Amino acid sequence: MSRRRRVYEGKAKILYEGPEPGTLIQHFKDDATAFNKKKHDIVEGKGVLNNRISEYIFIKLGEIGIPTHFVKALNMREQLIREAEIIPLEIVVRNVVAGSLAERLGMEEGTQLPRSIVEFYYKADELDDPLVAEEHITAFGWATPQELDEVMALALRINDFMCGLFLGIGIRLVDFKIEFGRLIENEMIRIVLADEISPDSCRLWDIETNKKLDKDLFRRDLGNLVEAYQEVARRLGILVDPRPGDAKGPVLVQSN
Ligand code: UDP
Repeated sequence: MSRRRRVYEGKAKILYEGPEPGTLIQHFKDDATAFNKKKHDIVEGKGVLNNRISEYIFIKLGEIGIPTHFVKALNMREQLIREAEIIPLEIVVRNVVAGSLAERLGMEEGTQLPRSIVEFYYKADELDDPLVAEEHITAFGWATPQELDEVMALALRINDFMCGLFLGIGIRLVDFKIEFGRLIENEMIRIVLADEISPDSCRLWDIETNKKLDKDLFRRDLGNLVEAYQEVARRLGILVDPRPGDAKGPVLVQSN
Protein backbone atom coordinates (compact mmCIF):
# COMPACT_ATOMS: atom_id res chain seq x y z
CA MET A 1 0.00 0.00 0.00
CA SER A 2 2.70 2.48 0.99
CA ARG A 3 4.60 1.80 -2.24
CA ARG A 4 1.86 3.31 -4.35
CA ARG A 5 2.87 6.46 -6.14
CA ARG A 6 1.11 9.52 -4.80
CA VAL A 7 0.04 11.69 -7.70
CA TYR A 8 -1.60 14.52 -5.76
CA GLU A 9 -2.50 15.39 -2.19
CA GLY A 10 -5.28 17.88 -1.46
CA LYS A 11 -6.96 19.09 1.71
CA ALA A 12 -9.25 16.12 2.19
CA LYS A 13 -8.10 13.56 -0.38
CA ILE A 14 -5.03 11.85 -1.83
CA LEU A 15 -4.82 10.57 -5.39
CA TYR A 16 -2.62 7.52 -6.01
CA GLU A 17 -1.64 5.98 -9.30
CA GLY A 18 -4.24 3.37 -10.29
CA PRO A 19 -3.73 -0.23 -11.39
CA GLU A 20 -4.05 0.64 -15.09
CA PRO A 21 -2.99 3.67 -17.12
CA GLY A 22 -5.66 6.33 -17.06
CA THR A 23 -6.93 5.28 -13.63
CA LEU A 24 -6.34 6.71 -10.16
CA ILE A 25 -7.20 5.72 -6.62
CA GLN A 26 -9.05 8.44 -4.73
CA HIS A 27 -8.38 8.16 -0.99
CA PHE A 28 -10.51 10.11 1.50
CA LYS A 29 -8.60 11.46 4.52
CA ASP A 30 -9.98 12.40 7.94
CA ASP A 31 -8.68 15.96 7.62
CA ALA A 32 -11.23 18.72 7.95
CA THR A 33 -10.25 22.16 6.72
CA ALA A 34 -12.09 25.43 6.28
CA PHE A 35 -11.34 29.02 5.29
CA ASN A 36 -8.64 27.90 2.84
CA LYS A 37 -6.90 25.69 5.45
CA LYS A 38 -6.80 28.41 8.12
CA LYS A 39 -8.88 26.05 10.28
CA HIS A 40 -7.70 22.44 10.35
CA ASP A 41 -8.55 19.36 12.39
CA ILE A 42 -8.52 15.59 12.15
CA VAL A 43 -12.05 14.24 12.39
CA GLU A 44 -11.84 10.50 12.83
CA GLY A 45 -14.23 8.61 10.56
CA LYS A 46 -15.01 11.52 8.21
CA GLY A 47 -13.02 10.05 5.31
CA VAL A 48 -14.88 6.76 5.40
CA LEU A 49 -18.26 8.49 5.53
CA ASN A 50 -17.46 10.89 2.70
CA ASN A 51 -16.08 8.10 0.54
CA ARG A 52 -19.22 6.03 0.99
CA ILE A 53 -21.66 8.93 0.57
CA SER A 54 -19.85 10.25 -2.52
CA GLU A 55 -19.65 6.78 -4.04
CA TYR A 56 -23.40 6.30 -3.47
CA ILE A 57 -24.29 9.62 -5.12
CA PHE A 58 -21.91 9.13 -8.08
CA ILE A 59 -23.36 5.65 -8.75
CA LYS A 60 -26.92 7.03 -8.65
CA LEU A 61 -25.96 9.92 -10.96
CA GLY A 62 -24.34 7.42 -13.34
CA GLU A 63 -27.61 5.50 -13.37
CA ILE A 64 -29.49 8.55 -14.71
CA GLY A 65 -26.86 9.10 -17.41
CA ILE A 66 -24.55 11.69 -15.86
CA PRO A 67 -21.00 10.84 -17.01
CA THR A 68 -18.67 10.59 -13.99
CA HIS A 69 -15.07 9.65 -13.25
CA PHE A 70 -16.18 6.90 -10.84
CA VAL A 71 -15.20 3.33 -11.78
CA LYS A 72 -15.70 1.22 -8.68
CA ALA A 73 -15.53 1.08 -4.92
CA LEU A 74 -12.27 -0.34 -3.57
CA ASN A 75 -12.58 -0.21 0.20
CA MET A 76 -14.11 1.91 2.94
CA ARG A 77 -11.82 4.87 2.20
CA GLU A 78 -10.93 4.50 -1.46
CA GLN A 79 -12.46 4.37 -4.89
CA LEU A 80 -11.09 3.70 -8.36
CA ILE A 81 -11.61 6.62 -10.72
CA ARG A 82 -10.70 7.54 -14.27
CA GLU A 83 -7.98 10.14 -14.55
CA ALA A 84 -9.45 13.37 -15.88
CA GLU A 85 -7.98 16.79 -16.56
CA ILE A 86 -9.73 18.93 -13.98
CA ILE A 87 -11.37 22.10 -15.30
CA PRO A 88 -10.09 24.75 -12.85
CA LEU A 89 -13.56 25.79 -11.70
CA GLU A 90 -15.67 25.15 -8.64
CA ILE A 91 -19.28 25.09 -9.76
CA VAL A 92 -21.68 26.02 -6.99
CA VAL A 93 -25.41 25.38 -7.38
CA ARG A 94 -27.73 27.11 -4.91
CA ASN A 95 -31.37 26.54 -4.04
CA VAL A 96 -31.49 28.48 -0.78
CA VAL A 97 -29.51 31.55 0.33
CA ALA A 98 -26.57 30.59 2.57
CA GLY A 99 -22.85 31.07 3.15
CA SER A 100 -20.98 33.44 0.87
CA LEU A 101 -24.13 34.42 -1.04
CA ALA A 102 -25.79 35.58 2.17
CA GLU A 103 -22.67 37.56 3.08
CA ARG A 104 -21.95 39.02 -0.34
CA LEU A 105 -25.48 40.28 -1.00
CA GLY A 106 -26.57 40.86 2.60
CA MET A 107 -29.39 38.33 2.33
CA GLU A 108 -30.84 36.25 5.09
CA GLU A 109 -29.69 32.62 5.27
CA GLY A 110 -32.53 30.24 4.60
CA THR A 111 -34.38 32.32 2.00
CA GLN A 112 -35.62 30.03 -0.80
CA LEU A 113 -34.31 31.22 -4.17
CA PRO A 114 -36.91 31.83 -6.92
CA ARG A 115 -34.81 29.62 -9.19
CA SER A 116 -31.61 27.64 -8.84
CA ILE A 117 -28.47 29.72 -9.29
CA VAL A 118 -25.22 28.40 -10.78
CA GLU A 119 -22.00 30.22 -9.86
CA PHE A 120 -18.41 29.70 -10.99
CA TYR A 121 -15.33 30.12 -8.81
CA TYR A 122 -11.82 29.99 -10.23
CA LYS A 123 -9.81 27.28 -8.46
CA ALA A 124 -6.81 29.16 -7.07
CA ASP A 125 -6.02 28.75 -3.36
CA GLU A 126 -3.62 31.70 -3.42
CA LEU A 127 -6.54 33.93 -4.49
CA ASP A 128 -9.12 32.23 -2.22
CA ASP A 129 -11.06 30.85 -5.20
CA PRO A 130 -12.58 34.09 -6.56
CA LEU A 131 -16.07 34.26 -8.04
CA VAL A 132 -15.78 34.65 -11.83
CA ALA A 133 -18.15 35.27 -14.73
CA GLU A 134 -18.55 33.15 -17.87
CA GLU A 135 -16.66 35.88 -19.75
CA HIS A 136 -13.56 35.35 -17.62
CA ILE A 137 -13.73 31.60 -18.07
CA THR A 138 -13.90 31.71 -21.85
CA ALA A 139 -11.57 34.71 -22.27
CA PHE A 140 -8.83 33.04 -20.22
CA GLY A 141 -9.44 29.65 -21.82
CA TRP A 142 -10.30 27.78 -18.60
CA ALA A 143 -13.19 26.21 -20.53
CA THR A 144 -14.67 26.71 -23.99
CA PRO A 145 -18.20 28.14 -24.42
CA GLN A 146 -19.38 24.65 -25.47
CA GLU A 147 -17.84 23.07 -22.40
CA LEU A 148 -19.41 25.71 -20.21
CA ASP A 149 -22.86 25.04 -21.72
CA GLU A 150 -22.41 21.36 -20.99
CA VAL A 151 -21.15 21.99 -17.46
CA MET A 152 -24.15 24.21 -16.76
CA ALA A 153 -26.65 21.68 -18.15
CA LEU A 154 -25.07 18.83 -16.17
CA ALA A 155 -24.95 20.94 -12.98
CA LEU A 156 -28.69 21.64 -13.22
CA ARG A 157 -29.53 17.98 -13.87
CA ILE A 158 -27.37 16.95 -10.93
CA ASN A 159 -29.12 19.54 -8.78
CA ASP A 160 -32.61 18.32 -9.75
CA PHE A 161 -31.67 14.73 -9.03
CA MET A 162 -29.99 15.50 -5.73
CA CYS A 163 -32.82 17.77 -4.53
CA GLY A 164 -35.18 14.82 -4.99
CA LEU A 165 -32.79 12.30 -3.48
CA PHE A 166 -32.34 14.38 -0.33
CA LEU A 167 -35.98 15.49 -0.11
CA GLY A 168 -36.90 11.80 0.00
CA ILE A 169 -34.87 11.42 3.18
CA GLY A 170 -36.09 14.61 4.84
CA ILE A 171 -33.13 16.82 3.91
CA ARG A 172 -33.10 20.19 2.14
CA LEU A 173 -30.28 20.55 -0.38
CA VAL A 174 -29.35 24.19 0.22
CA ASP A 175 -26.31 24.34 -2.07
CA PHE A 176 -23.35 22.28 -3.22
CA LYS A 177 -20.04 22.48 -5.06
CA ILE A 178 -18.98 20.21 -7.90
CA GLU A 179 -16.03 19.92 -10.24
CA PHE A 180 -15.74 18.56 -13.75
CA GLY A 181 -12.91 17.08 -15.75
CA ARG A 182 -12.09 16.22 -19.33
CA LEU A 183 -11.19 12.76 -20.46
CA ILE A 184 -10.52 11.31 -23.87
CA GLU A 185 -12.94 8.61 -24.99
CA ASN A 186 -12.96 7.26 -28.56
CA GLU A 187 -10.67 10.12 -29.55
CA MET A 188 -13.24 12.62 -28.31
CA ILE A 189 -12.99 14.90 -25.31
CA ARG A 190 -15.75 14.13 -22.82
CA ILE A 191 -16.78 16.18 -19.80
CA VAL A 192 -17.28 14.09 -16.66
CA LEU A 193 -18.28 14.85 -13.10
CA ALA A 194 -15.15 14.51 -10.94
CA ASP A 195 -13.95 15.08 -7.36
CA GLU A 196 -16.61 14.26 -4.73
CA ILE A 197 -20.12 15.03 -3.56
CA SER A 198 -20.39 14.70 0.22
CA PRO A 199 -21.52 16.66 3.28
CA ASP A 200 -18.12 18.40 2.98
CA SER A 201 -19.20 19.95 -0.31
CA CYS A 202 -22.97 20.34 0.23
CA ARG A 203 -25.18 22.25 2.64
CA LEU A 204 -27.76 19.83 3.96
CA TRP A 205 -30.46 20.95 6.39
CA ASP A 206 -33.00 18.72 8.08
CA ILE A 207 -36.43 19.63 6.65
CA GLU A 208 -38.23 19.50 9.98
CA THR A 209 -35.72 21.08 12.34
CA ASN A 210 -33.35 22.98 9.97
CA LYS A 211 -30.52 21.21 11.80
CA LYS A 212 -27.29 21.35 9.79
CA LEU A 213 -25.94 18.01 8.60
CA ASP A 214 -22.86 19.31 6.78
CA LYS A 215 -19.43 20.93 7.08
CA ASP A 216 -20.86 24.19 8.47
CA LEU A 217 -20.87 22.31 11.81
CA PHE A 218 -17.08 22.36 11.59
CA ARG A 219 -16.69 25.79 9.94
CA ARG A 220 -18.87 27.44 12.59
CA ASP A 221 -18.13 25.14 15.57
CA LEU A 222 -21.78 24.13 15.81
CA GLY A 223 -21.57 20.47 16.76
CA ASN A 224 -20.41 16.94 16.07
CA LEU A 225 -19.49 16.51 12.41
CA VAL A 226 -19.21 12.73 12.35
CA GLU A 227 -22.59 12.23 14.01
CA ALA A 228 -24.21 14.47 11.40
CA TYR A 229 -22.49 12.71 8.46
CA GLN A 230 -23.50 9.38 9.99
CA GLU A 231 -27.07 10.63 10.06
CA VAL A 232 -26.90 11.46 6.33
CA ALA A 233 -25.38 8.03 5.59
CA ARG A 234 -28.01 6.31 7.72
CA ARG A 235 -30.86 8.07 5.95
CA LEU A 236 -29.34 7.19 2.55
CA GLY A 237 -29.31 3.55 3.67
CA ILE A 238 -25.52 3.30 3.58
CA LEU A 239 -25.16 3.01 7.35
CA VAL A 240 -27.13 0.41 9.27
CA ASP A 241 -27.90 0.64 12.94
CA PRO A 242 -26.41 -2.10 15.08
CA ARG A 243 -28.66 -5.01 15.96
CA PRO A 244 -29.57 -5.31 19.63
CA GLY A 245 -26.72 -7.07 21.37
CA ASP A 246 -24.04 -5.90 18.92
CA ALA A 247 -21.11 -4.51 20.83
CA LYS A 248 -20.02 -1.78 18.40
CA GLY A 249 -21.66 1.45 17.22
CA PRO A 250 -23.26 1.91 13.80
CA VAL A 251 -21.55 0.08 10.93
CA LEU A 252 -21.14 1.06 7.32
CA VAL A 253 -22.65 -1.38 4.84
CA GLN A 254 -20.09 -2.87 2.43
CA SER A 255 -20.81 -1.73 -1.11
CA ASN A 256 -19.82 -4.86 -3.00
N1 UDP B 1 -17.89 24.70 -1.11
C1 UDP B 1 -16.95 23.69 -1.18
N2 UDP B 1 -15.62 24.04 -1.30
C2 UDP B 1 -15.20 25.32 -1.35
C3 UDP B 1 -16.17 26.34 -1.27
C4 UDP B 1 -17.51 26.00 -1.15
O1 UDP B 1 -17.29 22.52 -1.17
O2 UDP B 1 -14.00 25.55 -1.49
C5 UDP B 1 -19.32 24.35 -0.99
C6 UDP B 1 -19.88 24.68 0.39
O3 UDP B 1 -19.79 23.56 1.23
C7 UDP B 1 -21.32 25.02 0.08
C8 UDP B 1 -21.28 25.58 -1.33
O4 UDP B 1 -20.05 25.14 -1.90
O5 UDP B 1 -22.12 23.85 0.08
C9 UDP B 1 -21.35 27.09 -1.39
O6 UDP B 1 -20.34 27.63 -0.57
P1 UDP B 1 -20.25 29.20 -0.35
O7 UDP B 1 -19.94 29.88 -1.64
O8 UDP B 1 -21.46 29.66 0.36
O9 UDP B 1 -18.94 29.39 0.50
P2 UDP B 1 -18.60 29.20 2.02
O10 UDP B 1 -19.69 29.81 2.81
O11 UDP B 1 -18.49 27.72 2.18
O12 UDP B 1 -17.29 29.92 2.14
